[in-house]
Amino acid sequence: MQKKGELNPCPFCGGLDLIVHELIYPDDAEGAAVGALAAHWEVMCRYCGCKGPEGNPRREVAIELWNKRRKPGDIYRTRHAGLWEVTKTGKHKRLV
Ligand SMILES: [Zn+2]
Repeated sequence: MQKKGELNPCPFCGGLDLIVHELIYPDDAEGAAVGALAAHWEVMCRYCGCKGPEGNPRREVAIELWNKRRKPGDIYRTRHAGLWEVTKTGKHKRLV
């Protein structure tokens, strides 16, 4: 179960109605046994439907990445492609 205060509010709507869930799906990796299942964890906002980065093998990793998400208005620099801003809709727009 989710501990109180474990997750930052949704970066888009400020919502606190967040769930951490495990997605289970057929494992299609090369060499996987027939009928094998794979799983990953993600955080989702139940209010606006936005999700944290997918593909996390562990619950703690999904939570950590969610808490580090960039929010609208954040400006950041990438190593090779200049300066970017996160817009109100959550898109990443290149500034320079
Ligand atoms: Zn939200």
